[in-house]
Amino acid sequence: MSANLFEAIENGITCKDAPFMEAAGMAVAGGTEKSGGEKYSYGDMLALSGKYANALISLGIKPGDRIAVQVNKSPETLFLYLACLRAGAVYLPLNTGYTMDEVAYFLADAEPVLAICRPQVKDEFERLAARFGVKKVQTMSGAGSLAEIAEKSEARFKTAPRKADDLAAILYTSGTTGRSKGAMLTHENLTSNARVLRDYWQFTSDDILLHGLPIYHTHGLFVATNTVLLSGSSLLFMAKFDAAALCGLLPRATVMMGVPTHYHRLLALQEFKADVVRNMRLFISGSAPLSSEIHKEFSARTGHAILERYGMTETNMNTSNPYDGPRRAGTVGLALPGVELRIADAKTGHLLPQGQIGVIEVRGPNIFKGYWRMPEKTAAEFRPDGFFITGDLGYIDDQGYIHISGRDKDLIITGGLNVYPAEIEAAIDALPQVSESAVIGVPHADYGEGVTAIVALHPGGVIDEGAAREVLAKKLAAFKVPKRIITVDALPRNAMGKIQKKALREQYKNLFDNA
Ligand code: AMP
Repeated sequence: MSANLFEAIENGITCKDAPFMEAAGMAVAGGTEKSGGEKYSYGDMLALSGKYANALISLGIKPGDRIAVQVNKSPETLFLYLACLRAGAVYLPLNTGYTMDEVAYFLADAEPVLAICRPQVKDEFERLAARFGVKKVQTMSGAGSLAEIAEKSEARFKTAPRKADDLAAILYTSGTTGRSKGAMLTHENLTSNARVLRDYWQFTSDDILLHGLPIYHTHGLFVATNTVLLSGSSLLFMAKFDAAALCGLLPRATVMMGVPTHYHRLLALQEFKADVVRNMRLFISGSAPLSSEIHKEFSARTGHAILERYGMTETNMNTSNPYDGPRRAGTVGLALPGVELRIADAKTGHLLPQGQIGVIEVRGPNIFKGYWRMPEKTAAEFRPDGFFITGDLGYIDDQGYIHISGRDKDLIITGGLNVYPAEIEAAIDALPQVSESAVIGVPHADYGEGVTAIVALHPGGVIDEGAAREVLAKKLAAFKVPKRIITVDALPRNAMGKIQKKALREQYKNLFDNA
């Protein structure tokens, strides 16, 4: 039996007239700014993804071929993703922020058959294609583009059968350490996770998901879109995140998925009040830690407890706070149905007792097949019994809730003692003048690493370093108290709201040179 994710979507459609998507203030594929408001039903989604799939076939695409895509977010981009599924091709989305040097690495590594790009970089894409053996380059929009071929193509398309472990997509990890790796995701990985999320978060065809996330990343592409498609609900699709615009759309939505930065920015708006969320049933956060402060402030302002979940490109979603149970601030909830999760000693792999911090390991149908053309790297990150070593540190509390203590590589060892950044960040974020913080280890002649806090303050806030350290010393053991607290205007974050700790470590590497 075929396991193509798109067949699961097709089989679930009960009404072709049901709404699938409304483009809210979208820049459309042609590059011409439209006022937005274009509406697509499930029938339109079938027809348009069929047209794009036929266009791909006319370009010679066969099942298993990789298609690299670096284009702006638009409804057409989503139809292209679905067309790749239907044609049995492997979708390989690239962040539009990548430079040509970075694109060169991805094209050389992935060797796609076809690359789809924005018209303004076509010449550069063609030069790279010739160098790396990419057979064809096609612009998404404009004269002779894929959109133009699709428009002339037949809407009917028979979705290609795929096996459960055939690849649906390759997503490159954000690569904050070393080379970016291509995570190979199968049809089963995506289908099983979307089904679990749909049921766990109780999505129904009445839901309208406000979508302000990028669609080159697992969060906006799979978590948001696949969950909607498998529940027959619909998308209110924004070209990009803009807090004020999103706030204006909230009264029309029932669910929002965002990164913590989105919630932080919403809270900074005066017009963001309980009335705006009158039709909302659920706010979900992920991709980076949501501070307890944001959780509390959000709940005080709106009456909604943000539901925090945890996942990664390689694993899809692993845990979630409950829909119907307590959503605990500062935790990522419980392992999702079908996902096995355990805590082990990062070095020995021995399992740790409940309450102890170790590396989080996961197993289940959601876990990726491996890193593209990196068999050694893949083997090194799986235990012999099939558990994937996430590289995230955490522990399970006495209620079974999972807490994340930071990335393994961000662990600070000072004077031989382990300091987990998340614990220190939570204590600093609780200081009234602090808006957000990042705790890093910086080389220190005496301690090996000196605990260092980089903080951004609320508007008008001031912080006295000595006084703040004294307050922290009442809550934290002396070795955990930051040796320095440095104030900055804003913390460096990527588009998914992840703080760029590597950049901070580099920036402050000489901080303790004279210590
Ligand atoms: P990515 O592959 O870009 O989705 O990044 C995955 C990483 O983001 C995980 O390994 C975690 O380090 C982090 N992450 C995702 N969700 C959360 C969360 N709710 N809390 C803390 N960290 C998270």
